[in-house]
Amino acid sequence: MAVHDKAAEHINPYEVAKRQYDRAVAYLDLPQGIVDFLRVPKRELSTNFPVRMDNGDIRVFTGYRVHHNTVLGPSKGGIRYALSVDIDEVRALAMWMTWKCALVGLPYGGAKGGVVCDPYSMTQGELERLTRRYAAEISILISPHGDIPAPDMGTNPQTMAWIMDTYSMTVGYSVPAIVTGKPINVGGSQGRTEATGRGVVICMHEALRRAGHNNPAEISVAIQGFGNVGTYAAKHAFDLGYKVLAVSDVTGGYYNANGLDVDDVMAYTATSENHWLRGYPNADEISNEELLALECDVLAPCALENQITEKNANDVKAFLIVEGANGPTTPEADDILFSKGVDIIPDVLANAGGVTVSYFEWVQGLQSFFWDVEEVNRQLGRVLIKAYDEVARNKDEHNVDMRTAAQITAIKRVSDATVTRGIYP
Ligand code: GLU
Repeated sequence: MAVHDKAAEHINPYEVAKRQYDRAVAYLDLPQGIVDFLRVPKRELSTNFPVRMDNGDIRVFTGYRVHHNTVLGPSKGGIRYALSVDIDEVRALAMWMTWKCALVGLPYGGAKGGVVCDPYSMTQGELERLTRRYAAEISILISPHGDIPAPDMGTNPQTMAWIMDTYSMTVGYSVPAIVTGKPINVGGSQGRTEATGRGVVICMHEALRRAGHNNPAEISVAIQGFGNVGTYAAKHAFDLGYKVLAVSDVTGGYYNANGLDVDDVMAYTATSENHWLRGYPNADEISNEELLALECDVLAPCALENQITEKNANDVKAFLIVEGANGPTTPEADDILFSKGVDIIPDVLANAGGVTVSYFEWVQGLQSFFWDVEEVNRQLGRVLIKAYDEVARNKDEHNVDMRTAAQITAIKRVSDATVTRGIYP
């Protein structure tokens, strides 16, 4: 998301992830060796590989797959295609996956992958060849019981279908559980596409309910990002009766004082260039900076890292921030927002709906027994509300903000399991 990159310029997400970790781990009485072990990735793969482009040229791409931790189970996490991908971003995202999975009680560790590329400037054929070659390169790390990829920014169900097919061709039989976020016709789960955005709104709704706000029509929401997460967050909020004041993507922000008709916005992006908002007619244009500083009740950053920093945290008017993106708020911004009394539902809780339904998809694939969407959504709500409740209890117990409370909950789970398993050999 180029327009959002200005604020992100000099902030290293891995440094942010480690600072969040240091803050939280200080509340736990852990042996120093365990503290050190959970602070670093377990293993990292970096690969440079050739791809034949449509014009016949061969281009070399760089990709990564990082396993942060595998104590609780196979590692889990998405694959990102973006020009901004680098090893430190992948490390941070892998670490956040460890805490996210542990927090919501999934039997997974954390991983992440990425390829440095601009998927919007590539054809479907080029993307398919890039994906198949990257899948082959990381095949020494991924397996249905070892490490299970999923979509992230710049990738989608089709990308997962290619990875599943590539892996299946090499072993000689279909292995649907090698990836999650697949299309439904090759073993994907009902509700997976919508799950992250739905989870964002489940968490938002719970926070508002606890604060005594029981009428969605009185609550206005601004959403940064209109990719998979932002779109379905907007849709679910709209369906529940919330007033979705503004949405944005890389092409700009769109605002309607009376609330946007999200079905109309989605109908527009269904056929627009690259599914972008550019040119959406039934709203006023605003900048990304204006969206973040909008007069509204809830702000949901659903794009990418480092969007709310010490530079703009003071401008935030919302009383609640729900992090659909991974790492959208820096530690300096956390401090400013905390002192202003702005509540934050942190990424590892707010966007955990995606990996939760990924887990349901993996279980369904392993059992070859598939659930209906009502069952998926019921189980998703149960998992997220339970995790929300645990975070809220740790927040009160330690007198900390929600992010630190979420990380305390997650780190404790992983450190306890590490101690129970013991140190090999
Ligand atoms: N990429 C998503 C995330 O950041 C989903 C990961 C998954 O489903 O494994 O949580």
